[in-house]
Amino acid sequence: MVGKRKIVFFFGGGKAEGNAAMRELLGGKGAGLHEMTRIGAPVPPGFTITTEVCTYYYAHHEQYPKGLESDVIAGLGRIEKILGRRFGDAENPLLVSVRSGARESMPGMMDTVLNLGLNDQTVQGLIKRTQNPRFGYDSYRRFVQMYADVVLGLKAKEKIERDPFEEILERKKHASGVGFDTDLGAEDLEEVVFAFKALVKARLGKEFPSDPKEQLWGAIGAVLGSWNNDRAVAYRKLYDIPHTWGTAVTVQAMVFGNLGEKCATGVAFTRNPSTGEKSFYGEFLVNAQGEDVVAGIRTPRPVGELKTVMPRPYAELRKVCKILERRYKDMQDIEFTVEDNKLWMLQTRSGKRTGFAAVRVAVDMVKERIIDKNEALLRVEADHLNQLLRPIFDHKDKEQAAKEGRILAKGLPAGPGAATGRVVFHSEDAVARKESGDQVVLCRTETSPDDIRGMEAAQGILTARGGMTSHAALVARQMGKVCVAGCEALSIDYQARLMRVGETVLHEGDWISVDGSTGEVIQGEIRTLPSEVLQVLIGGDRYARKPRIYQQYAKLMRWADEARKLGVRTNTDQPDQARVAKAFGAEGIGLCRTEHMFFQGDRIQAVREMILSDDESGRRRALAKLLPMQKEDFKGILDIMGGLPVTIRTLDPPLHEFLPNRENEIVELAQVMGVPADRLRDKVKVLQEFNPMLGHRGCRLGISYPEITEMQARAIFEAACELRKEGKDPFPEVMIPLVGSRGELVAQRKIVEQVAHETLASYGVKVRYLIGTMIELPRACLLAGEIAEEAEFFSFGTNDLTQTCLGLSRDDAGKFLPTYVLDGLLAEDPFVSIDREGVGALMRIAITKGRKVRRNLEIGICGEHGGDPKSVAFCHEIGLDYVSCSPFRVPIAKLAAAQASLRKKP
Ligand code: ADP
Ligand code: MG
Ligand code: MG
Repeated sequence: MVGKRKIVFFFGGGKAEGNAAMRELLGGKGAGLHEMTRIGAPVPPGFTITTEVCTYYYAHHEQYPKGLESDVIAGLGRIEKILGRRFGDAENPLLVSVRSGARESMPGMMDTVLNLGLNDQTVQGLIKRTQNPRFGYDSYRRFVQMYADVVLGLKAKEKIERDPFEEILERKKHASGVGFDTDLGAEDLEEVVFAFKALVKARLGKEFPSDPKEQLWGAIGAVLGSWNNDRAVAYRKLYDIPHTWGTAVTVQAMVFGNLGEKCATGVAFTRNPSTGEKSFYGEFLVNAQGEDVVAGIRTPRPVGELKTVMPRPYAELRKVCKILERRYKDMQDIEFTVEDNKLWMLQTRSGKRTGFAAVRVAVDMVKERIIDKNEALLRVEADHLNQLLRPIFDHKDKEQAAKEGRILAKGLPAGPGAATGRVVFHSEDAVARKESGDQVVLCRTETSPDDIRGMEAAQGILTARGGMTSHAALVARQMGKVCVAGCEALSIDYQARLMRVGETVLHEGDWISVDGSTGEVIQGEIRTLPSEVLQVLIGGDRYARKPRIYQQYAKLMRWADEARKLGVRTNTDQPDQARVAKAFGAEGIGLCRTEHMFFQGDRIQAVREMILSDDESGRRRALAKLLPMQKEDFKGILDIMGGLPVTIRTLDPPLHEFLPNRENEIVELAQVMGVPADRLRDKVKVLQEFNPMLGHRGCRLGISYPEITEMQARAIFEAACELRKEGKDPFPEVMIPLVGSRGELVAQRKIVEQVAHETLASYGVKVRYLIGTMIELPRACLLAGEIAEEAEFFSFGTNDLTQTCLGLSRDDAGKFLPTYVLDGLLAEDPFVSIDREGVGALMRIAITKGRKVRRNLEIGICGEHGGDPKSVAFCHEIGLDYVSCSPFRVPIAKLAAAQASLRKKP
């Protein structure tokens, strides 16, 4: 007992003290064994030592709690009684396995010992009972090998050293002239056992323990110890599993799949884990034990063949699987063993699956009335929807490439999907080649806003530097482009127009393929297939019968729409992207950046003219050139979105992003503007900033140059009015960025309102519109009450709010942020998932203060976080009206929003 609590739970003979709900105490594996016993499945008897013993053990200098010893002995006694065998008995010995198992499965991370209880005497009893000396010694040598490794810590000393036991086995096989372990006879194996034990003696200076009780306590200690081995600790860090949970230990009677041709061991899934198809799936080996299937010593056979080899256990296995699936209401991953034509179940757990399988299993199970819609929504990991939307590599082609050694390097999987094309290094080349009908992959050391057009033209983007939230990654995700970022193995020589990856040199125009789901960079062309879901969404009328993947996806999305409270908008500034987002069901645009439009065509010239003019009249001349172009852009987007809100942000980035930096550009611009190149060069220098993130940007631009805001407002309202005249119902929301005080918003709002009144009056129409602000400075959060008096909506710009709240620049954070996350100084990368404690607190303040002043204040979020499921859940919790994310994340955000509102319910 730990305190008054029971610490050993028995199962066997059709009864179990535990059940499926006791994962915390019995671990997933333990709870599964208890539950299977309860439902009448054939499970070898055993008992589970609770996770509380593990936590006690670590809290008390690796001492066991009082009473454990007697409980374990009592447990053994019950197993002995059921099976009529005795632990350590020379006539009819009981053998057990000692198995690890935490609350959440940590596959392969912790240890298990099989065939425990064997020594020179008991092995004789085992042989007598089975009439099979070969089997007896095979089990014995497996035990010594496993025990020495797991409990005695006798492993290969260095990475390059071979496993010393395998070496002995190899030598024996060689001496006996056989190829497989299975070909060694009883006498060979007896000698192997002898050699194994001699090795233990030589290496450790003491005898291999022959007392079964000593073996048992050694194994229990080792399994508890494996909770804190390096692998397990690293795994827990990676998957956010608390170190405090501890592992349970299950001691269970052995059953043998290695007793002859009527025996087998295998693993199976109740449905196909990669497609979700409802078909029995798995593998087995005849005459083998437990881990042989995974270890790949022999090639296993598909589980369907078991039907012909061992029809009776096969039929029972199918029956048990059906019951298990109904009981757990989920696809199960199971382990089984057949001993002398009798089936034994050894493990059951929810099976890991791809996104495709997740959707299919969830939707199918609703149809089969196993789960309801809400449960189905909770079953699919929101991020996994990604897999359904991305183009995919032809599997065979990629395998071939791997065989030929053409997988060159690995970077960060920043934009999932598959892309193949010719290598280009410059945006202009990407555009030119695309226009002449090529498909290209843009390869850059890093990208900048200058590269937008090139990125747009490319199938995929590959960068040597930058993280998951680098410019390339961010824009790629927004565009739905395939992207591999931060592939450090690349070194690009822009001058020579080539790049090196290790020994390989790729020239401009060579074929390359990038897998944005895995980060792989592959030499040569790999065939891609488009996502079926996307094909239907965008050009769906062509399909007489829509593919199943699409139908199931659409069904899931319908359910998500019913369940969620949060609205979902999209971040986009291009009509074709807006169309995609609308096809995905976006309910408006939450962020339309106007500056990306400035890079299209030759607009950048006019933009630069505007920036570099000395006076207002020069700026107005340049702005007049931009007005009609911006108007067309806005018209396109407002038109596509129909009556849905479109939040348009006035100019935001620091001016230096638009400045010409190449000499020839400066000279050309000087000619257009009719000023000396020298003067322009000086002006460019003056405008450079040390810390542009905190510099002359956001509404500060509109304050310095009101005519910019004025032009943009005019473009917006003229576009809206023209659409209105065409009988449409546009709904612009004008958003002022980087506001830190009420006064700034007052000034900008006045300009926008003035233009709105004038324009609406001159067109003689009414247009719905709102004026609001982006909340991206701590000061704006603190003064949100005042600001709300001037704003009809707030939209959290959480990218900048994170930078300004944490006082760190995203572009420079790569040097230390990863170690901060690894060391637990930050729970997570705050640019990926909202920092709830800091940024989140500011958001809460802003919401409370804002809504106090204006009850119906519309509040959303338009930072990258809007597409991160965890952040979406947070936005639901704090009562936002909507999240806005890149088009391809709209379905993910919808599902995450549905899950958040379902989880909230008690
Ligand atoms: P893991 O978590 O690494 O899968 P397990 O505890 O499930 O570890 O055991 C490893 C292998 O040994 C599995 O294939 C399992 O089926 C098998 N095994 C475990 N206990 C027994 C037993 N009592 N009889 C037969 N095989 C067993
Ligand atoms: Mg297992
Ligand atoms: Mg910003």
